[in-house]
This record gives sequence, C-alpha cells and structure tokens, in this order.
Amino acid sequence: MKKYNCNKFKSCIVYTIAEICKMLELHKRTVQDWVKKGLIIKNPSKRPFLIEGEDIKNFLKNIASKNKITLKMGEFKCFRCNKAVKSKDGKVEIEFTNKFFGQGAQQIFIRGECEVCSGKLLRLSSTNNIIEAGFNNNDNRYIIVIT
Ligand SMILES: [Zn+2]
Repeated sequence: MKKYNCNKFKSCIVYTIAEICKMLELHKRTVQDWVKKGLIIKNPSKRPFLIEGEDIKNFLKNIASKNKITLKMGEFKCFRCNKAVKSKDGKVEIEFTNKFFGQGAQQIFIRGECEVCSGKLLRLSSTNNIIEAGFNNNDNRYIIVIT
C-alpha cells in the first residue's frame, strides 16, 4: 500500500482534484474514488471541485491508520518481524514522558523485547490505557498490562 505525504498540503489552502493528482502523482480516478469514500468537497455545487488542505490531510492520515497493524492487549508491533508480537515475560518496561493529554492522561512509552526475534519493541500509549500495573522486585521493573 502506497504512503502519501500529507505534509505537502497546507491546512488553510484549497486544492483542485487536478492539483492533488499532480502533487501526489495520482490518476484522477483515485482522487475521485477518495471523494466517494468520504473526502470532502468544499462546495459540491461549484466547479471545479475544491478540497481544503485540512480535509486532504485528515483523509490521508485516515488511510494511513487503516493500514496499521491492530494491536491487541499487551502486543507490540515488531518492525523486524513486521507483525504484532508479544514481549518476552519480564522485559516490559514503562517510561513516563512529559507529555499530557486531556483528562490528566500522561503519555507513556512501553518498551519490550520481541519474543520472536529478541528485537527491541516500543509502543506509545497513555496512562489511561494501563489496566494493571505492578512492580517486579526481582529486577526492579514495572510490569504492566495495557489495553
Ligand atoms: Zn520480532
């Protein structure tokens, strides 16, 4: 699946379908197909169709997120194995960042070690997703279960 660079578009600018095709090197049909799938035309009664940069960005991000591997509870994406994996037992660590989301949730990094290839694993999450946490006294590590 192709990746599109949504940073090419500026939020406050409107683009024609022809311009979008040129910028992303796409056939007109692809963009017309996106319109059918939900890409918003600013004023459908006017020609040529104009699309706001912000809407293109959101649409492209949406496409990208649909291509992501869905992780189940406690899983990581391993970039070496290129699939969802679990971490080896006792190798999961949590690191609190300085970033906060709404409702007091704090961004966390969850680190692990791939049970398949022993590669390093990293998953971004938030303190809201921690449903179980405990401290492993054997090796001074936080053990967590996340959604
Ligand atoms: Zn792996």
